[in-house]
Formats: sequence, C-alpha cells, structure tokens
Amino acid sequence: MDIKNNIEELINSLGSSNCKLVAVSKTKPISDIKEAYDAGQRIFGENKAQEMTEKQGELPEDIQWHMIGHLQRNKVKYIAPYVSLIHSVDSLKLLKEINKQAKKNNRVIDVLLQIHIAEEDTKFGLHKNELYELLHSVELPELHHIKIVGLMGMATFTDNEDQIRREFKFLADLFNSTRSDIQVDNVELTELSMGMSGDYKIAIEEGSTMIRVGSAIFGERNYN
Ligand SMILES: *Cc1c(COP(=O)(O)O)cnc(C)c1O
Repeated sequence: MDIKNNIEELINSLGSSNCKLVAVSKTKPISDIKEAYDAGQRIFGENKAQEMTEKQGELPEDIQWHMIGHLQRNKVKYIAPYVSLIHSVDSLKLLKEINKQAKKNNRVIDVLLQIHIAEEDTKFGLHKNELYELLHSVELPELHHIKIVGLMGMATFTDNEDQIRREFKFLADLFNSTRSDIQVDNVELTELSMGMSGDYKIAIEEGSTMIRVGSAIFGERNYN
C-alpha cells in the first residue's frame, strides 16, 4: 500500500469542491498514520474511544481527531479533552453527556447528528422525525458546550449505485432544508459527512463536505 500516493489521488479527486478528507485509521498502526501525516494529512477518523486516545497520545498535536463510530456515553470522558469532531451522535442523552464532559474541559465540542439513510436496520442513526424532535427539544439550547455543525450518514452496503445515490440525495435534501429552517444558537449546519471508500465519488457529486475513507488509503482491514 502506497499511503502517500493514495492520499494524493484522493485529494486530486476532491478537485475544487470544498470537501475534506477524513483518513479513517481504525485498526491501523501508528506507523501508517505517520506515513499519512507526512503526506500532509491532518484529519484522522477512529471508531473506538480507547484506540483513538492511545493513538492521540503518541502522535503530533496538530492532528484533528474525529470520532466516527458509535460512541457509548461512558466513553465520552476519554475523548472530550481533545476530540475535534464527533460524527456519530444519535440521541439527546449522548449529546448531554458530551456537553457535560466538554464543560469539564472548558471546551465546546463540535458534533454531527447521524441520520439513518441505509436499508439495513443494523446501522445507527436518527430518522427524520427524530432529528426534528431533537433539534426542537427545549433542552438543546441549554447545552452551551456543544455545537451541532452538520449531519452524517452511511449508505447501504450495495453495488447498486442508484440506490446509494438516492440515499445520499435524501440526506443532502434533509441537510439543506434543515439548515435553512433551524434557528437555535448552538446549531449551525455547515458539514455533510457522507462517502466511504466504495461510494465517495457519488457522495461528492451529491454535495458531501467530508468523506471518510479508510481502506482506499490504508488497505483492507483484518478486523473491525
Ligand atoms: C470504517 C468506517 C469508514 C471507512 O470505511 P472504508 O470503507 O474503509 O473507507 C467510514 N465511516 C465509518 C462510520 C466507518 O466506521
């Protein structure tokens, strides 16, 4: 795997879009992350709090660490001191815990709300009505240590490109309509996180501002 080359190709394919690359380094060793870092990559995504925290301790300070996986409430405290963006928030309960831990660290933590767009029901995320409920909750404006900056979604794992495009379109429409409607101080939707190794090209065409790419940079993973 030529990590540097893979990153350069991905950056090229982002072209003039204002889409950012999150290099998903879960399960991969520090040496791989260093290689990507030396190629200029600064945003890394991990899906386990403990693994991310271990890596964060060993790598340069200017890396922006993104939590992209399902986050348990009792793990928030480990990442709250340094995490740059949490992509996978799907309940008010979790949001409150993030707020609490951010406050302890004198920070405001940026988060995305994960939306369920795939056919599979094993994937986490809010449905449209649940998103609406959360954004209109009376408790939300009181959470001064979090900021909701966008939405995230994962398309169905399929070869059917029409289906993937339909799911990304649905998410982009929801993003656009919600961002123009919502008027809450700690909500400002600017980021749309969608697209992985298999479907990032479609995601960019449908308006993604953040693609989360793992195997197309670092090679296949042995485990998840
Ligand atoms: C693992 C993972 C990715 C990256 O997957 P690849 O197919 O290796 O690019 C993206 N997003 C989430 C939420 C993940 O868990």
